[in-house]
Amino acid sequence: MKHKVLVDVEVMAEMDRAVNGAKDMADRAKQLRRAVREFHDFIKDHRSMDWVSLDVREVYKDRCSHCGYEWEVDDAGVPVCCQKAIDEHESAKNVALPAPSPPSYSPSREGDEL
Ligand SMILES: [Zn+2]
Repeated sequence: MKHKVLVDVEVMAEMDRAVNGAKDMADRAKQLRRAVREFHDFIKDHRSMDWVSLDVREVYKDRCSHCGYEWEVDDAGVPVCCQKAIDEHESAKNVALPAPSPPSYSPSREGDEL
């Protein structure tokens, strides 16, 4: 039977006011990391709370660079979101797997000695 067990606890700090006109998510992360550094400097001046440590947790998800949908592949490893991703996958496969060349044989000195 499935049941819910508490295995970890974390504190969430809301620091959205530290973000001003972020260009994108990477810029938002950069501004939040700076805000956390400044907050640590502030904490250092308040000895009773100087054990507090904050960190910025960045969550990444794979998305398609063509259509922006979450990256998913079928059982054969082929993307399922859009034709451009499928085409890209097919052309990458052709580059990764060049036409089979005959096995090269280099005479081995050790073999000659036997
Ligand atoms: Zn796509």
